[in-house]
Amino acid sequence: PTRAAFEKAMSSLEYGKYSIAFASGCGAMTALLHLFKTGDHFVVCDDVYGGTQRYMRLFSKEKFGFEIDFVDMTNIENVQKAIKPTTKMIWVETPTNPTLKLIDLEAIAKLAKEKNILTVGDNTFCNPYLQSPLLLGIDISLNSCTKYIGGHSDVVMGVLVFNCEKLYKELFLAAKSIGACPSPFDSYLCIRGLKTLEVRTMQICRNGYHLAHFLEKHPLVEKTIYPGLKSHPQHEIARKQMRGFGGMISFLIKGGLEQASKFLRAVKVFTLAESLGGVEGIFKA
Ligand SMILES: *Cc1c(COP(=O)(O)O)cnc(C)c1O
Repeated sequence: PTRAAFEKAMSSLEYGKYSIAFASGCGAMTALLHLFKTGDHFVVCDDVYGGTQRYMRLFSKEKFGFEIDFVDMTNIENVQKAIKPTTKMIWVETPTNPTLKLIDLEAIAKLAKEKNILTVGDNTFCNPYLQSPLLLGIDISLNSCTKYIGGHSDVVMGVLVFNCEKLYKELFLAAKSIGACPSPFDSYLCIRGLKTLEVRTMQICRNGYHLAHFLEKHPLVEKTIYPGLKSHPQHEIARKQMRGFGGMISFLIKGGLEQASKFLRAVKVFTLAESLGGVEGIFKA
């Protein structure tokens, strides 16, 4: 029942009819990939999360015989060109982890619908308070709750939200069979996280805005990438599909590896780049 309560809250937050929670974001991704069979073709954004890329390359492609093309989706023509008669899914992540490319979700959804291709939007790097893939026509929204939804660096969990009943039956069967199911306690931790998602997100956006502008002007920073900066190549897409610009910033330090390592050894708040969206980085930043 605790898991069901979390799933109900997620359906509401992501504007979907159905949710299925998983033991991790990777568990959600793996279960989803069980909808397909050998020979099916996927088009995936080239800068997709490392774990997604690893599973798709080492397992889906090498062992299970899926065909996968990783393309730069900031240009929609690249997606159009990559589609084949066997294409069954388009996997989009926006902003991408870690180079923060933005992909036009509405344009991808429209293209896929014409060809009856399933679309998946990984919403983790944005967060469901700021972006609603389902409202933009994407079929399935994926979130790693380990990040913004949990928000306290103390839980690993994932969730899929969507509208189709047939998908619910297939995905529920996959979830149950694979066994990547979350515990009641983890579900409870994510429900707790959701209660402050709004206030945390507002603060995250404020911090992001100030930090990005600070970094952009800093003499030792070569380049700052943040969806909210006018200098971001897809800034207009951010304005169109995000309600705020979020908390993820990438920047390049002037110099080389030596300067970058020195900087990383000196940081005090973000000491381990393994997860994101925890309160530790919100209130000390
Ligand atoms: C972390 C992350 C995942 C995987 O989530 P886990 O809960 O760590 O398994 C998937 N997608 C993105 C964009 C992520 O940042």
